Amino acid sequence: QQTPEAPFLPAGRTVRMAGVGHGTTRMKTYRGRIAPTPTGLLHLGHAQTFWIARQRARQAGGKLVYRSEDLDPQRCKVEFSNAALEDLKWLGIDWDEGPDSGGDHAPYIQSQRIGRYRELLETLKGNRMVYPCCCSRKDVWDAVIAPHETGEEPIYPGTCRPPPGQTSTFEIGGVARLNWRFRVPSAETILFQDSCLGEQSFTAGSDFGDFVFWRHDDVPSYQLAVVADDHDMGITEVVRGEDLLKCTARQLLIYRALGWIAPTFHHCPLVTGEDGQRLAKRHDSLSLRAMREAGVSPEMIRSEFIR
Ligand code: GLU
Repeated sequence: QQTPEAPFLPAGRTVRMAGVGHGTTRMKTYRGRIAPTPTGLLHLGHAQTFWIARQRARQAGGKLVYRSEDLDPQRCKVEFSNAALEDLKWLGIDWDEGPDSGGDHAPYIQSQRIGRYRELLETLKGNRMVYPCCCSRKDVWDAVIAPHETGEEPIYPGTCRPPPGQTSTFEIGGVARLNWRFRVPSAETILFQDSCLGEQSFTAGSDFGDFVFWRHDDVPSYQLAVVADDHDMGITEVVRGEDLLKCTARQLLIYRALGWIAPTFHHCPLVTGEDGQRLAKRHDSLSLRAMREAGVSPEMIRSEFIR
C-alpha cells in the first residue's frame, strides 16, 4: 500500500491538488461516472448533472460508469435504486458499466464494497490520518459558541483529536458510538482547477474541519467511499453538482493521504425552482418519474431544463 512519506504537513501551505493530474503525463482514456444515491426519486437537478456527465464522456470518446451510492441503510431503498436506473435510461442516458450491465470493476453498488472501504480505513488508521472520536453530533453543536445560520455542521472543535503523531489517550473498546475522523491540516489552502467553474480555493480548518470518515453505526462515510470507488474504477473526471465543491476539497485530502492521483473535476450549476431555491428531493412533482407520468418527453426535459 502506497502511503505518503510525511502525512503531517506544516500549517499554512498552499497546495495545488488537482486539475493537473491526468493528462500531464500520458493521456488516459476518459472515464466518467454517474453516481445516484437511492434515497428518493431523481429530479431535474440530477437529470442535468448526469446528462452533462454522459455528454462529456461521449464527446471525449470515453466510458461512462453507473454506480449506486446506497451506503446509508436507513435512508436508501431498493425501489429508488430501480427507479433511478429506469428513469435515467428513459431520459436517454446510456452507460458502459454498471449494476445492470456489469464490467471489469464490479460490483457497482457501494453496499457490496464495504470490505474495500474497511481496508482503507485500516490504512489511514495505520498512518494516523484518522482518529477515534466519541463526540456525538449534539456535542459538536454544543461546543460552538456562535450561533449557526447555515445549518451546516460546525467545524469540529478538536475535542478528541490527538496531537500529530500521537495516538488517542482514551480506551476505544469502552465507547459504544465511535466515529473515526479525518485529520484536516489546519490553514492549508486547497486549490484545484474546475473545468466548469475555474480555479477553486478552500482553506482547510476554516472552510471545513476534521470530518467523519467512518460512522459510529459502522457505515463508511460518503467521502471515503466516493474516493475509493473513483480511484478503483479508474475515473478520470468527476462531474457532480456545485453543492459538492467543499466535499471535493475534503476528498482531495483523502487522495493525498492514500498517495493517489486525483481525477479532474467538473462541477455543474444547480437547477433552481421558480423561487430561486435549489430543487430538493421533496419537490416530488419535479421528479423525473412524475414528469414522465404527466406525459413530458425525454427530449422536452433535455431541451427545456438542461443547460
Ligand atoms: N451520490 C451523490 C448524489 O446523488 C453524488 C456524489 C458524487 O458525485 O460524488 O448526489
